[in-house]
Amino acid sequence: MVLPIPAEARTASDPDFGVYLHIPFCVSKCAYCAFSSGPASRGIISAYQDAVHREIDAHAHGGAYAGRTARTLYFGGGTPSLAAPSEIAALIDHCRRAFALAPNAEITLEANPETVSYDRLRGFLDAGVTRISLGVQSFDPRELTALRRAHSSERVVRAWEAARRAGCANLSLDLIYGIPDQAPETWTATVDAALALEPDHLSAYALTPEAGTAFGLAVEEGRAALPSDDEVDTLEAVLHDRLDAAGFNRYEISNYARPGRACRHNLLYWSGDDWLGLGASAHSHVDGRRWWNHFDADDYVREGEDGRWTADREQLTPERRLAEALAFGIRMIGGIDGDRLRVRFTVDPWERYAQPLDRLIAMGLVEPRRPLIRLTPRGLNLADMIAEEFL
Ligand code: SF4
Repeated sequence: MVLPIPAEARTASDPDFGVYLHIPFCVSKCAYCAFSSGPASRGIISAYQDAVHREIDAHAHGGAYAGRTARTLYFGGGTPSLAAPSEIAALIDHCRRAFALAPNAEITLEANPETVSYDRLRGFLDAGVTRISLGVQSFDPRELTALRRAHSSERVVRAWEAARRAGCANLSLDLIYGIPDQAPETWTATVDAALALEPDHLSAYALTPEAGTAFGLAVEEGRAALPSDDEVDTLEAVLHDRLDAAGFNRYEISNYARPGRACRHNLLYWSGDDWLGLGASAHSHVDGRRWWNHFDADDYVREGEDGRWTADREQLTPERRLAEALAFGIRMIGGIDGDRLRVRFTVDPWERYAQPLDRLIAMGLVEPRRPLIRLTPRGLNLADMIAEEFL
């Protein structure tokens, strides 16, 4: 039994927000990828960017962001580094004018090794990009082939060195573990190779068989086997130990950073703050409203000609907003401040969720540190299950 949130609950968000901009084009399609992404001609890429510029204009003229400051801009994909630096510059400038982008905004560009050179990276930084996130996934040639990545490990190192030479002071890389037949030794070698690059930030995600992907189909048909829970635990232990020893701070279940290098944009998602999503498949969450754009780039461009970028929308109740803030907030290693949620929703989560929180504390999964709501190390391993307690 949980207490209802009063109808008059204040749900106004922090006046700051973030902007996500999706570039859904890639050199080829990776085996595990369920994102809105894929190869496209230069003409389609160009038409797509025109559509995004129109969507930016529509939001800017709508007035919903007047008086608010965009603290982050995140180019995700797809492979945003397939765009020309001049195109990224035009999108940044447009967002700067439309959304009062803060002078010190974090501007992230996702990049893949096969698409970058020193000149292109220099161009992205000159355009205003402050942070580059490189899709690496593995340093093992056999695993890169199994994942159908379009690059070699040597190409990763060249791209990384070029980014540093170009002046990128905030470089992140992504890894994937739990690849079929992945031995702890190859994973250890990948983590060590990643650390040898001295990244500022590192994300590591377990491979999941998404429906509709080549990998998902292979698992379904028995052509690929997922590792057991024990095997995944072993790989995660390698990751945690290596990164801990290297001085990284694990600040979210799958994310590690040097001091001061946590991704501000992603923190905004986990903190339940507002963000505007632009482009195909992008989701937005502003003042308790959520909407999402057409998934396919073609649909997005075609429907966008009449201003219909959005595929669907929903109004979140205060109950749902609090529940989601908790479900995502517990992913942060530092936990989520119950007092901040109480001020924001005028309801104390420790009272509203008294029963589940008491039970989780008794089970040793949540720390007894009211007002902070924070998972224990054992709770972090069960975060998805614990999130269900709030949703
Ligand atoms: S590079 Fe990323 S977005 Fe593109 S196909 Fe591969 S996983 Fe998907």
